[in-house]
Amino acid sequence: MKSYDPRMHSAEHILNQTMVRMFGCERSFSSHIEARKSKCDYRFDRPLTQAEEMELTNQVNRIIRQNEPVTEHFIPLQEAAAQFNLSRLPEGAGEEIRIVSVGSYDKCPCIGPHVTQTWEIGEFRLVSTGFEDGILRIRFKLGDPE
Ligand SMILES: [Zn+2]
Repeated sequence: MKSYDPRMHSAEHILNQTMVRMFGCERSFSSHIEARKSKCDYRFDRPLTQAEEMELTNQVNRIIRQNEPVTEHFIPLQEAAAQFNLSRLPEGAGEEIRIVSVGSYDKCPCIGPHVTQTWEIGEFRLVSTGFEDGILRIRFKLGDPE
């Protein structure tokens, strides 16, 4: 298990929830998270328009600026399986599943490291999006927290 950058990885949670809310798609099925630059892949049917890219960026930054608390709690595996897609959790995640919440905006099972409040993430900057073979790729960076 590689170590994730907590700021980038927390931004990924917010980005995923924003994609789900804006487009009704699934959370990213594959991602590459690094301190300098990250990318998330979504199953999608078309490229994003410039207006959609802007709206997506604004919405992610709105949540970051609201300074939502990032918290965790544990629920039994069976309960988690009924509520969430657990396919991205590693094997042997245990009988108790860790659920990570970003305020009331997002909730998902995760084992990674996170910030404790969303302002720590800094500004979300969309680098580019690309669409190919049913996959929308979103590349992003972060500014320093203010
Ligand atoms: Zn996480």
